[in-house]
Amino acid sequence: MTQPLTCRFAPSPTGRMHAGNIFASLISWIVAKRSGGDVVLRIEDLDPDHSKQEFTDQIQKDYEWLGLGWDRGPYYQSQRQQAYQAAFEELVRTGNTYPCFCSRADIKHATQAPHPGEKRVYPGTCFRLTEQERNQKVAEFRARGRKPSIRLHVPQLTIQVHDMFQGTYSQRLDTECGDFLVQRSDGAFAYQLAVVVDDAAMGVNFVVRGVDLLPSTPQQMYLQDLFGFPHPGYGHVPLLVAEKNRRLSKRDHDAGLDKLKESYQTPEGILGHIAYVAGIIPTEEPQSADQLLRCADLTHLEHTIQILWH
Ligand code: GLU
Repeated sequence: MTQPLTCRFAPSPTGRMHAGNIFASLISWIVAKRSGGDVVLRIEDLDPDHSKQEFTDQIQKDYEWLGLGWDRGPYYQSQRQQAYQAAFEELVRTGNTYPCFCSRADIKHATQAPHPGEKRVYPGTCFRLTEQERNQKVAEFRARGRKPSIRLHVPQLTIQVHDMFQGTYSQRLDTECGDFLVQRSDGAFAYQLAVVVDDAAMGVNFVVRGVDLLPSTPQQMYLQDLFGFPHPGYGHVPLLVAEKNRRLSKRDHDAGLDKLKESYQTPEGILGHIAYVAGIIPTEEPQSADQLLRCADLTHLEHTIQILWH
């Protein structure tokens, strides 16, 4: 790669770091540093119901302790409402959105990055309302003190992602994604909108993250097109899984950073173990982030979706 890449760490402060987050961050850091670029830290505390200050603080200490430094930030999504509001208004003004009066079940997940099996295609119910029906619903909602959520209408368009690790991924927006939320009924902006606005504003030109977010990438690229933002490059790394199709989570205690510290003691011990399990170093031995920067072989991640954690 010739151009210096700006990558990012984008943790949601909803829990303690575990092997999966550490692994994705390590690869992001390596990709940036190998290109002579830098790393931005962005705390994705968009949803106040799920974010905790204690995790925000702890995550930063953990990155430092692991030797995964960042060059800019931390930026906080909770402090960037004005930027999201301006972007949102542009989408409304350009006629790309419509109010949605459908049930909350769909809407609940909108501020969180969707994980596997959670992708639902909205059938377009509220898009097809006549103007009269729409006005009536608005009035009904207003009478009950409620607000509709806002969806972005997507065209019949196939978007292709050329991914550093996963190869080419295609998604037809209208049938595989559907009109998606940009604002919840409680006013919170959706993850998809925030992430696109932030990546552009922070100069992120290469996104490294877990492959569970690959299906979100076409949506984000479509939003980038609407705003006239350049597309970053993408590298979606395999997920560390506890068992087939079950990503690591808080209940997998052996993968949590506290337990990793107990088992492997040093940052080098932990990074060496994770790198070995992921197959990017051939033998298990302690390795610092700087050592992995020099020797990890990332080609072993290509076309891999899941890696069994052990
Ligand atoms: N904050 C998201 C998560 O922790 C990651 C979002 C992204 O990388 O785009 O799942």
